[in-house]
Amino acid sequence: MITLALSKGRIFDETTPMLAAMGIEPLEHPEKSRKLILGTNRPDLRLLIVRASDVPTYVQYGAADLGIAGSDVLVEHGGDGLYQPVDLGIAKCRMSLCAAQDLDVETMIRRGARLRVATKYLQTTRRYFADRGIHADLIKLYGSMELAPLVGLADVIVDLVSTGATLKANGLREVEVIGPVSSRLIVNQASLKLRYDQLEPLVQAFAQHTK
Ligand code: ADP
Ligand code: MG
Repeated sequence: MITLALSKGRIFDETTPMLAAMGIEPLEHPEKSRKLILGTNRPDLRLLIVRASDVPTYVQYGAADLGIAGSDVLVEHGGDGLYQPVDLGIAKCRMSLCAAQDLDVETMIRRGARLRVATKYLQTTRRYFADRGIHADLIKLYGSMELAPLVGLADVIVDLVSTGATLKANGLREVEVIGPVSSRLIVNQASLKLRYDQLEPLVQAFAQHTK
């Protein structure tokens, strides 16, 4: 049995057409079924539905052979025990530093002020500010980061942006793009060695169906 871990929502929705092009159909849809293990039309392939940020953990420990995870999540996880052979080009967005429209962050930074930064992405954020020699105090949040600058929890946020509509709706602006984000196919390193003949064709199939 080959096990592929992925999250429902955006990643599942953008993966399904790729799987279909590879001749693979899930037997159920995660929004309609409460099942967390979904069979496919391939008797030797099943899907695990897990939280986006848990996908690398399932693959790292071999509970899943393969997974699909955002590069944002992979940076936070660190990538131990994982190969990342294919950038699938799906769930594309960008990681950005954002602030309230009326806050002059550029001047604060120039004057060496300490910034309070709210984010779900501690590793990415720590690295970004360290590389620029900017003093930052990080506050970990799990969602709705856009709220933090509006209520004085933080000066700025580091979050994913796609259209910018959520930022705009909350009176925020993108101060700087930190980097592009897309989802990658990840593989357990030991699985790939031990079950190369089973897994490599699937890795190749994904590589041929990237967006
Ligand atoms: P969760 O809310 O559990 O983090 P999402 O479905 O919102 O799950 O996000 C899963 C992944 O999809 C993220 O890790 C990221 O790589 C990507 N993603 C998140 N937000 C966007 C977006 N606005 N546009 C495109 N991709 C996104
Ligand atoms: Mg989300």
